[in-house]
Amino acid sequence: MQAHLPSALEPFRPATKQSRVELRSVAKLPTEFGDFDIHVFSADGSEKEHAALVHGDVFGADGVVTRLHSECLTGDVFGSLRCDCGPQLDRSMREVQSSPRGIILYLRQEGRGIGLANKIRAYKLQEEGLDTIDANRALGFADDERDYGIAAAMLRTLGVRSIDLMTNNPDKVAQLERHGIRVASRVAHVVGITDHARSYLETKAKKCGHYIDVGALDVRGTGG
Ligand SMILES: [Zn+2]
Repeated sequence: MQAHLPSALEPFRPATKQSRVELRSVAKLPTEFGDFDIHVFSADGSEKEHAALVHGDVFGADGVVTRLHSECLTGDVFGSLRCDCGPQLDRSMREVQSSPRGIILYLRQEGRGIGLANKIRAYKLQEEGLDTIDANRALGFADDERDYGIAAAMLRTLGVRSIDLMTNNPDKVAQLERHGIRVASRVAHVVGITDHARSYLETKAKKCGHYIDVGALDVRGTGG
């Protein structure tokens, strides 16, 4: 595989195609963080179902606080300390609830888009000493295979005029704008980290251009 530049430095890549999403179902979803409406979408004829948790009236609204969360079974469900996905999802649900209106898109692109089995293969390589990016490259994947075209189509269907995006990832802002979503502002989104997740976040900051000052983060206990 060719040397791969960090995503922040990649040349402009035009959006290849506009994703088509279909809204399949909507219902109220009370959670421990507050009440949401859950909207379930399918996209591009795939079996995969993506969800939008919506708080407040977002149709026609500007500056809607928005988080794009890519599925992470190990972090979201099992409380894995290899990454910070679970705490990030919790925090975004809290922040959306504390805003007048907001959206969390839960995107079914596990393991930065490489799938669960490959993510676990990459974990195995990390046990042998590779960092998260080099492990993905060793398996023949790009640093980040995620695509936010579906997210953009979901936001269009929900009728938002512009968003305040909670992210540290410049590629998310760039991809959404390429797909025609107006990002009015970027809101930093960093949670405290465990020692396990520290090297993962340092790699994201160093190699992927994420805006994370790892040295400045609180270290949470790793015991629970
Ligand atoms: Zn994760």
